[in-house]
Amino acid sequence: RAVYEQVQQKRGKIRKRRTNNGEHNMFSGLLVCADCGSNLHFHFNQGNPEIKYFNCSNYKGNRGTCTSTHYVRVDFLEEVVLGEIRRLMKFASLYEDEFVKAVIGHSKQAEQTDRKLKEKELRTLLARDKELDGLFERIYEDNVSGKLSDDRFAKMSRRYEDEQKELSEKIKKLRSEIEKQSSRSMTTDMFIGLVRKYTRARKLTPRMLNELIEKIEVFNAEKIDGVWEQRLRIHYNCVGTIEIPTVLPLPIPEVSVNTRKGVVVNYAPCELAV
Ligand SMILES: [Zn+2]
Repeated sequence: RAVYEQVQQKRGKIRKRRTNNGEHNMFSGLLVCADCGSNLHFHFNQGNPEIKYFNCSNYKGNRGTCTSTHYVRVDFLEEVVLGEIRRLMKFASLYEDEFVKAVIGHSKQAEQTDRKLKEKELRTLLARDKELDGLFERIYEDNVSGKLSDDRFAKMSRRYEDEQKELSEKIKKLRSEIEKQSSRSMTTDMFIGLVRKYTRARKLTPRMLNELIEKIEVFNAEKIDGVWEQRLRIHYNCVGTIEIPTVLPLPIPEVSVNTRKGVVVNYAPCELAV
């Protein structure tokens, strides 16, 4: 629950759940057009209300500016998204190190080593900073007692001050780097926790969608080598898009659906498309 609220807060917006005609669908507010960035709107087939679909709200045919409908069926979306979440779950649980690498760009181990080095460097800088305070105090006392000339004191204190100024900038930069790193690894852990929660999920639920997914980019279906394909790009909460290395035995979900025109459309993940 706490994690869920954190995610909702992080996102900072309340999703629109209903469409103009009062109908709502769990994908409402989650789908965006990959070409024009507009939201996709929910519809159902007047003749056959079982056929539910979304299309670009900015389509030219409806007085918008987008050149394609970006028609996507709800049953197709449900299957693809559930399949992709399951695939991601396997990826996160079976290959955690690879998963972390895919999310933050390098492995957890590399991250930890790097962090330890940075922390060590920070300790060294802080120690030198303290040492300079002590040195300054000493030359000040020596100057007061007459052991150190005013001229010499001025020169040395300027040198210490310059060094301290440089140090404080380095310390500030290092601290912010360490902080950024730790917040990134925290959101990764948070996302892994979220994903784990749904290990046994058999059906896609609105809550699951809200917790895991920030948005889904929908491409217009295209005919590639005689086969219709529709690409989707899923952006997950906390971590964004995740590319699962193709060398791992984690097959892309095979989903195909018959469209209104009697054409079969297959799902194609984004990273494999041209
Ligand atoms: Zn569009």
